[in-house]
Amino acid sequence: MGDIGLIVEESDEMKAMVLRETALIEKEPLKIEDLPVPVPGRREILVKVSVCGLCHTELDEIEGRLQPILPMILGHQVVGRVAGLGPGAKRFRLGDRVGIAWIHSSCGNCHFCKKGNENLCLDFKGTGCYANGGYAEYTVVQEDYAYSIPERFSDSQAAPLLCAGAIGYRDLRLSGIKQGETLGLFGFGASAHIVIQVARHWGCDVFVFTRSQEHRELAKKLGASWAGGPEDQPPNKLNCAIDFTSVGETIVNALEALEKGGRLILAVIRKRDPIPPLDYARHLWDEKEIKSVANITRRDAGDFLSLAAEVPIIPEVMEFELAEANQALLLLKQGRIQGSGALRVAD
Ligand SMILES: [Zn+2]
Ligand SMILES: [Zn+2]
Repeated sequence: MGDIGLIVEESDEMKAMVLRETALIEKEPLKIEDLPVPVPGRREILVKVSVCGLCHTELDEIEGRLQPILPMILGHQVVGRVAGLGPGAKRFRLGDRVGIAWIHSSCGNCHFCKKGNENLCLDFKGTGCYANGGYAEYTVVQEDYAYSIPERFSDSQAAPLLCAGAIGYRDLRLSGIKQGETLGLFGFGASAHIVIQVARHWGCDVFVFTRSQEHRELAKKLGASWAGGPEDQPPNKLNCAIDFTSVGETIVNALEALEKGGRLILAVIRKRDPIPPLDYARHLWDEKEIKSVANITRRDAGDFLSLAAEVPIIPEVMEFELAEANQALLLLKQGRIQGSGALRVAD
């Protein structure tokens, strides 16, 4: 026997929800298919998926605002157990619980990678976009791009930590927020409901801007000192703001509410509609800054999982079956998921 270990059961076929053509999610473009279980290559691990979280980026892929390779198995918040080791894979053992995040690989050699900015690597490959992800019973990943999951989280609690949480943590870090400062969160979905828990842990005063009454209530429950609509003025100016929404106007709303010298972080990969014109004096002058966040590094994911276990940060998760992916993503698009959504693939 060589150094390949495999514990794939009886059949070598698996169920997967596959995207073959981009279309509006209302058209239910993901189809369930039987596909061969992937074989782990050099230093790769085969992961038997338990849970895969849902993310707005998947809506961008499905609806064509991002261009995934097609056909593609989406999903980049994967929690499962190691079910096979490719040649030379040594970091994990069969049965270990691991997570996979948005960063599926990077080149490791370019000037971005060498400085720890692998999120900006020209050869950055996103899970479920350039390589098959977790909307399936099995998936493979390079062992160096998988994470051990701290014991205190259940599989479904861990899933949203891998993107919603890890990217949210990067957003917060890049916002430069300091203890006791005011933070504004625009939109209150999967990422924001985790970010607020970190910000409260750091002693920040958090204001939440969302149209959804249910999301405002959840925000208050998680420690927001004020919640209102995106056009409303908060009780105090914001030292930092994070915009999680896919609409253009919130950029104007957030800049309006920002304190002099404040920084606005744009957390999404694509905006669904254009940004309205900005008034220089009103929105940008006084040393206001805007910064977008692109992808994550392995360090973001690893550091965040440790921090989340220590605080602890426990996400709220609505679970769906794998075959219900279209319906679940439609609810996500409509803003009708409280906290995070996840597909339950296996027990
Ligand atoms: Zn994501
Ligand atoms: Zn690189």
